Amino acid sequence: MINGESYKWIVAEAAKKALGMENIQERVFIVRLVTDKNDPTRVAAAAGFSVRDHKLYVYKFKCCLLAAGGAVNVFRPRSVGEGTGRAWYPVWNAGSTYAMAAECGAAMTMMENRFVPARFKDGYLLGSHAGCAGIWVSGPTDIPGTPTEWSWGYNRMTTVKGLFTAGDGVGASGHKFSSGSHTEGRIAAKAMVKFALDNKTWKPEMARTVDELVEEIYRPVKTFLQHKDYTTAIDINPRYITPKMLQFRLQKIMDEYCAGVSTWYQTNAKMLELCEKKLEMIKEDSLKMRAKDLHELLRAWENYHRIRGFTERRSAHHCV
Ligand SMILES: Cc1cc2nc3c(=O)[nH]c(=O)nc-3n(C[C@H](O)[C@H](O)[C@H](O)COP(=O)(O)OP(=O)(O)OC[C@H]3O[C@@H](n4cnc5c(N)ncnc54)[C@H](O)[C@@H]3O)c2cc1C
Repeated sequence: MINGESYKWIVAEAAKKALGMENIQERVFIVRLVTDKNDPTRVAAAAGFSVRDHKLYVYKFKCCLLAAGGAVNVFRPRSVGEGTGRAWYPVWNAGSTYAMAAECGAAMTMMENRFVPARFKDGYLLGSHAGCAGIWVSGPTDIPGTPTEWSWGYNRMTTVKGLFTAGDGVGASGHKFSSGSHTEGRIAAKAMVKFALDNKTWKPEMARTVDELVEEIYRPVKTFLQHKDYTTAIDINPRYITPKMLQFRLQKIMDEYCAGVSTWYQTNAKMLELCEKKLEMIKEDSLKMRAKDLHELLRAWENYHRIRGFTERRSAHHCV
């Protein structure tokens, strides 16, 4: 068995050697992708923040690889207290791949597939391990007999121009695991080089300004500073919600209405309708999350991604 936290070091070492440390930026949490000003069907940039320093990063590019894993802790774990964080899947994968792609207009496959391995029980939504959740991607062009509509030019490119994915990001492609994810990364990287060379003269122009992105990314901090003196207890305030409490609320909704463990993984149409309504409400409330420090800012955006990964997918699907 492979544990992510063990083998990540080995992969990171190879990447460091190939790229050079000067080309690697660590501990940057990407919050959103930005489309191109002149072509809304094309990705032009990504924005995120450092979880260590008060710095915001904006990357402009011809194409990018979105590979932030699957989504964990959307459902309430069976374990409580100290055991809560012991989900089978890496807890730092909070559905960023799905949320950012869907918000950027990418067509998703389906998010109904949930993985509950008997030996761990607390894992949730992922594209690997025969899970089908994820983003539609273009297939290869060189396999005889493959339907033409399965491929739109660049292998592993999503329906958004320049946006590629691999591993847990790719939907409807089960049984890939570590080696398959790694191989998909290589396939996507080669296709990205081709894409960049084919678009040599094209220059990205962001549809949103840097000021707008700063305003949005630091909104939970601003919310906290604005309202923190309204009450005498820092965590209890009608004007904001802590990321931890919002996560409990999300997990309660998913657990009770969307086939969680407390209903023995069963649900019905009525409960799913209610679930959808409640998710719409929590989506609104997610804009009221506070962040009293960088750690909470990370937790706030993780929650936002968990929620958006679900609720954005239908509109994205309709774009196809
Ligand atoms: C406990 C466990 C056991 C497993 N055992 C096996 C096994 O025995 N054999 C096997 O083949 N496979 C195994 N797997 C599966 C394998 O680990 C996955 O298929 C593979 O890691 C998926 O690769 P990925 O690159 O898509 O995602 P990941 O390897 O999960 O990488 C995603 C990365 O994105 C980062 N990230 C997330 N959100 C953001 C954001 N917003 N901004 C910036 N970075 C972000 C994360 O920190 C992480 O580094 C196991 C997985 C787990 C969890």
